[in-house]
Amino acid sequence: FEHIAKADEAVHAYLELTEDMAYEAADKIDAAVADGTFSSMGPLAGVPVAFKDNMNLEGTHTTCSSKMLENYVSPYTATCVARCIEAGGIPLGKLNMDEFAFGSSTETSAFGSTKNPWDLERVPGGSSGGSAASVAAGMACMTLGSDTGGSIRQPASFCGIVGVKPTYGMVSRYGVVAFGSSLDQVGPFTRSVEDAAYAMQVLCGYDPLDCTSQHIEADFVDAVKQGVEGIRIGVVPGFMNAPGLTPEVKEKVAEAAAKLEAAGAQIVEVDLPHADAAISAYYVLGPCEAFSNLARFDSVRYGYCEPGLKDLGSQYEESRANGFGMEAKRRIMLGSYLLSAGVYEKYYYPAQQVRRLITQDYERAYEQCDVILAPTSPRTAFKFGEIGDPVEMHLSDIFTVSINIAGNGGMNVPCGLGKDTGLPVGVQLICPQFKDVNMFRAAAALE
Ligand code: GLN
Repeated sequence: FEHIAKADEAVHAYLELTEDMAYEAADKIDAAVADGTFSSMGPLAGVPVAFKDNMNLEGTHTTCSSKMLENYVSPYTATCVARCIEAGGIPLGKLNMDEFAFGSSTETSAFGSTKNPWDLERVPGGSSGGSAASVAAGMACMTLGSDTGGSIRQPASFCGIVGVKPTYGMVSRYGVVAFGSSLDQVGPFTRSVEDAAYAMQVLCGYDPLDCTSQHIEADFVDAVKQGVEGIRIGVVPGFMNAPGLTPEVKEKVAEAAAKLEAAGAQIVEVDLPHADAAISAYYVLGPCEAFSNLARFDSVRYGYCEPGLKDLGSQYEESRANGFGMEAKRRIMLGSYLLSAGVYEKYYYPAQQVRRLITQDYERAYEQCDVILAPTSPRTAFKFGEIGDPVEMHLSDIFTVSINIAGNGGMNVPCGLGKDTGLPVGVQLICPQFKDVNMFRAAAALE
């Protein structure tokens, strides 16, 4: 906490600290050490962890970095958070994010943006910017983020750490404020692949409170020890000509492929012919789901209530007008338009068809390979205010959104600093649904 007090003055990753909970958890560890039962505690015993502020932890504020939920106090705890604490994790607090997870830079937070610890003039990425920056700055050993279109992998790459978006259904979403329910997935940020493996071991598993969570047996800790002998790594030539891909990122992807090959993997070329349409499909489906999910923030059931209004109509209007920030409003209006009669048939329905085509692309590609290697982000961390145009900002998700659309797993593995910017570059490993151990095998070989 002393380190956080100092380092976070500049970085601003934390929105709330949970010192009492942390000391209580730490006392339990001390007691277990004293009475000789420490070894029977969970795999995170004594590990300082922190949570994105869209995850409920009973008794803390869960604001989603929005004025809308500024005063909301969680009456219960999300399954992913509970699993970390039950495994012995020491809860440090709640972390800054883009408002309701809309964004790629943490600049849309209503409570000020988080800075990239590598260069305070640059963004940490987003939307889980606080989760990535806190691990990069040594203010937590492990944090949780959520990823709807890249929000774990892109900030992990900007901050030079490991970030995992598991296959849809691996981790329970119960208690995590929904953005796009068919796309959202929770995952860990850590400094090493092995740490991420332990985190996955704790997080994954069926939860009766989330009907999309699955019973999957997977040993991640074992996977990182297996090596890559015999694994087939798919590379996508089309990705290398994507708009905005910088030479230094391209170089790191080529280096990673060479490293995997040298470690015994086989490199094969695969094609994802509909990948170009992923951004368009995502920015139809995402806002539509967000529009539905955000309807509950109406100042009555949940959320900020504008004082002094006499009728219900103006209470809804004024509370939503003043509670939501610019990007949230943009998504709500877009979603409401796209789902309206006449427009739905033109955009939402085709976007669902594109979703199917992208999923089939991946299924076909995985007949030839076990993991796909790709860039995570087309470039390294950008400066605050550098990208003002929302469409340009959306393009930073070009390599990540198709994975959420298809429901596959994906993770960022840091690969050192770029030759031109001197900033962290990461590469992405993508796996078939529920074969997340495959990407951990490959990830371990890249460290
Ligand atoms: N940057 C993407 C968006 O703004 C992804 C966000 C996310 O994964 N939560 O929608």
